[in-house]
Order: sequence, then structure tokens, then C-alpha cells
Amino acid sequence: MKLSKSFIKTLRDAPKDETARNGALLTRAGYVHKEMAGVYDFLPLGLRVIENIKNIIREELNKLDCQEIQMSALQNPEPWEKTGRFSDQEVDIWFKTELSSGGVLGLAPTHEEPITNMLKSYISSYKDLPLSVYQFQTKFRNELRAKSGILRGREFLMKDLYSFHTSEEDLNDFYAKVEGAYDRIFNRLGIGDETFETFASGGIFSKYSHEYQTFLPVGEDTVYYNADKSVVLNKEVYNDEVLADLGVTGENFKETTAAEVGNIFKLKFKYSEPLGLKFVDESNSMREVYMGCYGIGVSRVMGVIAEKFADDKGLVWPKEVAPYQYYLVAIGTEGTRVADEIYAGNEEKILFDDRDVRPGEKFADADLMGIPERIVISDKTLAEGAVEIADRKSGETKLISLDELKNLLTR
Ligand code: ATP
Ligand code: MG
Repeated sequence: MKLSKSFIKTLRDAPKDETARNGALLTRAGYVHKEMAGVYDFLPLGLRVIENIKNIIREELNKLDCQEIQMSALQNPEPWEKTGRFSDQEVDIWFKTELSSGGVLGLAPTHEEPITNMLKSYISSYKDLPLSVYQFQTKFRNELRAKSGILRGREFLMKDLYSFHTSEEDLNDFYAKVEGAYDRIFNRLGIGDETFETFASGGIFSKYSHEYQTFLPVGEDTVYYNADKSVVLNKEVYNDEVLADLGVTGENFKETTAAEVGNIFKLKFKYSEPLGLKFVDESNSMREVYMGCYGIGVSRVMGVIAEKFADDKGLVWPKEVAPYQYYLVAIGTEGTRVADEIYAGNEEKILFDDRDVRPGEKFADADLMGIPERIVISDKTLAEGAVEIADRKSGETKLISLDELKNLLTR
């Protein structure tokens, strides 16, 4: 992309109503635009980050033969009434709206009910199972507080995966595979070292469900971890009984804050029973389908990465998430000629700052936008056959030959 052709503008200061650091930096760097509290637009750079996150998740889930779908955001109350979850007393974050022809609809806060209901049309026999489907969807939740930038939206993007099985063992096997996929996903997202599978309440056969918590100073959750971080517990389950159950003692546990980037649940019959999702087994009896559900907060993950790696100059994106790999700056006549040549054919990798502004301003924006490598092609270094490449994360700058640069770009 050429910056001269883009409508985005970087800002020296964040808007006054943006108190969260992720929201402030992402706004200043031109990744998002705030519509109102908890509601954001994703601009070209921000959308590329979202797409990169989605693609990592998609690749890892497709390896487990999960099938991607997209369900509707508008919700028919009927299946939700069968589980009691259309009630505002039961679920206090609904956005609801009225049909002009009469009747109420909901805006989906999640999709367990509609997916279970929908699959009644496709699952009838043990031969149809196991099955797993996922989507990337906008969810709507009337959250009481939405002050954490894109970490907590009233409209946000989630990946939700649902799995369907004939037996508890098969659900357990698949659940373990999803745990493996989640490890790979969070590693590729660059937050693997600081993201922990965390015991939480809400388990249906087992006592626990699992959350994926990324340690983060501004995280809204409190978690407890032991010395080697092999056991991490959510606040709700941090008590003597649970510690004893897990065979650990509480003495060495420390408290920290974290952001929940995902969670996984064995639902058993929680939805299949009230919604009547059944299958005929090998001996011709009707049985309820075992279910699991597995979420990742796609837009929250983007906010967590922004918060986690930012420094005093701006954002710092891990390579697999970055909207572009290289930020290109040309200085001088020959510098510009060579930069044009380098850019041609590499438009997907390079963000070319070809604006008519001072190099200093370009360098500041390169830092603010957090592009992993900055390339400067100037008459001065070209005279020695070299170009400058600077690593955003380490700040390390070095000279490489034009050939080396061309080589890098073919990778
Ligand atoms: P939280 O406790 O943070 O409200 P939750 O338990 O309501 O999360 P789920 O309903 O299981 O979360 O949603 C799955 C994932 O979606 C969460 O793990 C989180 O990463 C993300 N998520 C949930 N609520 C929001 C929100 N309001 N804004 C952005 N992401 C969210
Ligand atoms: Mg919530």
C-alpha cells in the first residue's frame, strides 16, 4: 500500500474520550475509529490485522477438520426461549429490536442456541457425527462498562467453534485437540509465552471449564498462578478445595491481572437436551448429542497484542499479525527510483510511505504504526550499494546490500 493513496491520518494525540491505551494507540496509528463507547470501526490497517488473526485461527482449526460457516446475527427468540436465555433476567446483555410487522428479535450475543437448532436439520444418525463448525461473527452485548478500548466491545468480533459428538470420550478427544490448536494459535499470535490455560468455573461433567488468560496489567480478570505457571486459576475457583483437588497448595501462588482471550467448555447436553438435538445410535436408540464450545475474542486479541507490546514510540506488531512486514521510506532522487523498483510486486508486504513529508515524520509514523521492519533507501547509502533496515522491536539498525533486500522480499 502507498500511504499517499490512503485516507488514514496518524494523530499526535489520542481523542480525549479514549482512556484505554490500546484504543488510544490504535486510533492514533490509524487502525481503528471509535464510533462510541465499545463500538469501533476497523480501518484498512486494522482490518489487515484482524484478517491475519482470523487466518491463523482458520488454518489451525481447519487442520482439525472444522468447517467454517457464518450464521445470522439477527436472532429468532424461539430457540433461546427453549433454554430460558432470551430472558433479560437470565442474560442481562441482550440488545433486542422490534420487527415492523410485530415481534421481537435479538442481536446475537453468542450462538449456542441457533447452531444447535440449525444442526437438527443435518444431524440424525451416528453416521453424521462427529462434526465441528465455526464462524467469525460480530457479537452484540450490552456490556455495562465499555472503557477498555477494543478489549471490551458492545459490538465485537468472536471466533466461535461448536463440536458435536456421540460420546463423552469423543468429546474429550476433540477437546484435547482444540487445546493443542489453541496453543499453536496463541504462539503464532505472538502471545503464547504469556497466555495460560486457566481453570475456571462452569464445567458440566468436569468441575471446570478452561479460559485462556493473557497476563496483562490492564486485564479485567484476576488470576492466580504457581511458581512455574503450570497451574493458573481464575479468581472464582481459587480456593482451598480446588487447590486440594488439583493436588497443589496455595502458599506459592501469586496474583496478577489478565485478559481472557478465549475459553473452552464441555457443554454435554446443556443445549442439545432443551433444543432436542438427537441422533440414532448403532443400536437404533435415540440419544442426545454431546457438545463442546470454544471461543476466541478476535478483536480483543488485537487489543491485547497492541497493549502488550507497545512501547513509548507506539505499537509493535508480532510478524504474523502485522498489517505489512516492511515500512519503506525513500530519500533522494536515486533513493526514490530504487524504492519504486523495490515496491513493485511487493505491494502486499510493503507499506510505502511515499507522502511528501519530512523523513523524520515518516520515521515517527513507522514507529507509531508498529510495522516490524523499516527500510530506508537513500542516495547516501546507495552510493555504497547499501540500504538501511531497522527492526521495530529491538531498535537495531543495519546496512544490507540491495541484493540482500531483494532476497528478503522473496521470502
Ligand atoms: P468476559 O468474562 O470477558 O465478559 P465472557 O466469559 O463473557 O468474557 P464468552 O461469552 O465466552 O466470554 O466469549 C468468548 C470470548 O469472546 C471471550 O473469551 C473473550 O475473549 C471474548 N469477549 C467476550 N466478551 C467480549 C467483549 N465484550 N468484547 C470483546 N471481546 C469479548
Ligand atoms: Mg462477558
